[in-house]
Amino acid sequence: MDERKVRVRFAPSPTGPLHIGGVRTALYNYLFAKQHQGDLIFRIEDTDSNRFVLGAEEYILESFEWLGIRFDEGVGFGGNYGPYRQSERREIYRKYVEALLDNGTAYVAFDTPEELNAKRKEMKNFQYDATTRMQMCNALTLSKEEVDAWLAEGKQYVVRFKVEPNIDVHVEDLIRGDVVVRSSVLDDKVLYKSADDLPTYHLANIVDDHLMGVTHVIRGEEWLPSAPLHVLLYRAFGWEDTMPCFAHLPLLLKPEGNGKLSKRDGDRLGFPVFPLEWRDPATGESSSGYRESGYLPEALINFLALLGWNPGNDREIFSMDELIEWFDLAHCSKSGARFDYEKAKWFNHEHILRKDDEEIADMFIPILQEHGVEAPREKVVAVVGMMKDRVSFVKDLWDTCKFFFVAPTEYDEKTRTKHWKEDSPRYMIELADLLEGLHDFSLQNQETTVMQWIADKRYNTGAIMNAFRLTLVGEGKGPHMFDISALLGKEETLRRMRRAIAVLK
Ligand code: GLU
Repeated sequence: MDERKVRVRFAPSPTGPLHIGGVRTALYNYLFAKQHQGDLIFRIEDTDSNRFVLGAEEYILESFEWLGIRFDEGVGFGGNYGPYRQSERREIYRKYVEALLDNGTAYVAFDTPEELNAKRKEMKNFQYDATTRMQMCNALTLSKEEVDAWLAEGKQYVVRFKVEPNIDVHVEDLIRGDVVVRSSVLDDKVLYKSADDLPTYHLANIVDDHLMGVTHVIRGEEWLPSAPLHVLLYRAFGWEDTMPCFAHLPLLLKPEGNGKLSKRDGDRLGFPVFPLEWRDPATGESSSGYRESGYLPEALINFLALLGWNPGNDREIFSMDELIEWFDLAHCSKSGARFDYEKAKWFNHEHILRKDDEEIADMFIPILQEHGVEAPREKVVAVVGMMKDRVSFVKDLWDTCKFFFVAPTEYDEKTRTKHWKEDSPRYMIELADLLEGLHDFSLQNQETTVMQWIADKRYNTGAIMNAFRLTLVGEGKGPHMFDISALLGKEETLRRMRRAIAVLK
């Protein structure tokens, strides 16, 4: 079996926007596929038409497009194992349902929802299984004639899996080891419903994994309880030899307290739980996304990669290619991973630092334009290079750097009280004259000239520099003073100084 080409799949149900936990599952599948030169399949599990949400499939595809998670085949990508949308595979499933009915591992049942409810009322903890199935209305309790007659009449039925009691079912899990479950705790799951002529998730999932040659099932921990049934289904079909390896990923936990991360945590604490913004088509309600909140896809990928996996040392920053090289299911943890939103911001900051100034400038230019600023690209690149280590998001560059593009019209009151003294106008007039005389307005030349002047005049460096900053920036923040003046250029520097001198007196 290890000889088979690695084939993994991400198989969402289009029931709404993709939750961030689903993004992590897809990412781990992608990393695993890439590092084994295998294939990643995108399959849509839409057999539950009641839960279908319009636009969900497109949303999911757009999310992966943005994140750089590429599929080799599937819905939207083509391939030799299609169709990849389960609702288009009815004929295929019908055949496999028949196979189980024929070999006696499944049976037809006619119990109506009312009858099942009555039974649940009558028996505490009722479960449809080996101990109760003989009290129910199904092909095991009815005569063949009765069953045939009902089927001929078109009475609605389901097909249930016949779970043999008292056997130990082993799930070999690459993260959790040998997980053993006693078959008696499992119920006779419904595999097919005549009412919509569609299989349920369990049957469709197994049939497709088998037919699509899936070698590894990497998915969220919430699917672990289904795994023993899946193992039994593989056996019932006689497909033991191609049974995939399982890997159930740890839950994503709330930022604080117990339990699984939910959309409500995001709303309450102010962070997105979806990759892209989502507008619910039914209610019109929208939920924020990582993309619209200003995250770089690289940063979100890096953050998610480390939620449940670690490289075995304390390295934290990884590019996608490095993750492909380093990722390893054996280093995934069994216990839940706490969703530390502050850490996501830190990753964004770190990835901004690692990106070319040119690339960040290209993201910043539209933000400048929104504020009515048209600046030469070289200037934006230079500002970005100087300032990007101060922000967690590209959009925050505006507040941090706007003084490079827009001259101050007001002067911060506190800075003014602290740094604009009686002598300040005189100092600034002298300084402006000094700078005006410079041919070479480079940072270096300004710095040497000004420092020499301060030393010759025995002025106080702090007093000069703080006042100078107030004239150019309008407040007490910003990088090194001559970095600012060099970037603004002589003309603009002098204009700002003269205006400040006039306004501040
Ligand atoms: N359709 C399931 C989901 O929505 C897939 C579970 C699996 O990977 O087996 O997550």
